[in-house]
Amino acid sequence: MTARVLVVDDIKANVKLLEARLSAEYFEIFTASNGPDALELCENERIDIILLDVMMPGMDGFEVCECLKSNAATQHIPVIMVTALDSPADRIKGLKVGADDFLTKPVDDVALITRVKNLTRLKMLTDEMSMRAKTGSEIGFGDKNIPIFSQKKWQGNILIVEDQPRSSQRLVDILSQQHMVQVEPNPQEALFKLAEQDFDLVIVSLDLDGVDGLRLCGQVRSLERTRNLPLLIIVNPDDKARLMRGLDMGVNDYMVRPICVNEMMARTNTQVRRKKYADYLRNCLETKVELAITDSLTGLHNRHYLENHLKTLFDEAKSSSRPLSILMTDIDYFKSVNDSHGHDVGDHVLKEFARRIRTNIRGVDLACRIGGEEFVIVMPDTNLTECYKVAERLRKSIEKEVFGASHVDKPLEITTSIGLSSIDDKITTIEELLKKADKALYCAKRDGRNRVAADAA
Ligand code: GH3
Ligand code: MG
Ligand code: MG
Repeated sequence: MTARVLVVDDIKANVKLLEARLSAEYFEIFTASNGPDALELCENERIDIILLDVMMPGMDGFEVCECLKSNAATQHIPVIMVTALDSPADRIKGLKVGADDFLTKPVDDVALITRVKNLTRLKMLTDEMSMRAKTGSEIGFGDKNIPIFSQKKWQGNILIVEDQPRSSQRLVDILSQQHMVQVEPNPQEALFKLAEQDFDLVIVSLDLDGVDGLRLCGQVRSLERTRNLPLLIIVNPDDKARLMRGLDMGVNDYMVRPICVNEMMARTNTQVRRKKYADYLRNCLETKVELAITDSLTGLHNRHYLENHLKTLFDEAKSSSRPLSILMTDIDYFKSVNDSHGHDVGDHVLKEFARRIRTNIRGVDLACRIGGEEFVIVMPDTNLTECYKVAERLRKSIEKEVFGASHVDKPLEITTSIGLSSIDDKITTIEELLKKADKALYCAKRDGRNRVAADAA
């Protein structure tokens, strides 16, 4: 990870110390010794995360943080406040001005690297989201609705695995102010819950009676369904060895007992936000893939998909000498439906037509809308005779039942013409195959419509 970290502290030795530790982890380091310099750097450089000392002469860390978070250009940069030990008041104040996490002086190595890594990942997700918000309109997707993330309080669904009632009750009290929280004392039961419900974060105590919470963490990481679920462990101060093992196996963050309320809240929020952003981005991607291959009106595949997929099916059929047939259909006098009843009724007929196609074909058949009222169905492992039967069945199912539409007084009588083709030795390309079906369709239209024609020549 080549994240760019800005270290802000008025004492040179502190800067040097943090710089050395972070460089060892291959972060790129920027430094500033006062607030105004830090703000200027953030405006002019791409900074991914800021380690901000609270006590500085002139402008203190709180003021700097407030400026960063109120400026649209810098509000997405995560801020870790570096506070003096045992200063709960500072943390409350830090949260108020928008700090994302805290570290106490003297800064512990493990804490430093864990927190910087966590917030850097979060920053990368937010960058990705704002990039999409910018380019979204060009691509034509609804990314204008991207949630404005930095200030938003996400509500997460959290599972706490803890068998000490006092401790779990305390966590519930803290976290249920903002989140939905469930407690499960038994790790095995917890695993079932995780498989059945959608959680955004699991908090696991490593102090369970008779069982090792790390085992559960390992299981969560290895199961497909929970692999990306954020994990936060709670450890005792003398249990550094197991903390390290946990981090090695992919635990995202940790808290050391006794639990500080504000830290708990800040870290939980970081993990929940990260999970929500990642989900959001994944959904966008799935929607895009979906849109790229389906016709939005009918839900059938589109022409683009047909062109790509028919090639594969065609090559497979050719190389295995198995049959493959094409059914091409075009609704009869469809223009007059639009002309007499309007475009909306026309759309309704197209949807219902597509639905009848779906109910008349097999799952392996590939149904596509290739143009206005033209459809192609590719049927693997199907010869011309079998294809003819399907075509007749489809033709009848269109003719037999009228097309009802809510805003038309009389249901519409719709018919369709169908042309068929099948691969044979003479056909060597998909273009020839489609051309042949198209010619047959033309014959069906010419001969009076509402019929099936197969170009056997
Ligand atoms: P034929 O029997 O020869 O096929 O006659 P037709 O009227 O069905 O054929 P033509 O190609 O002349 O007209 C097709 C019409 O389909 C014209 C166009 O307005 C309409 N159309 C194309 N796409 C859509 C659509 O997405 N929705 C609606 N409602 N109509 C569409
Ligand atoms: Mg037509
Ligand atoms: Mg047409």
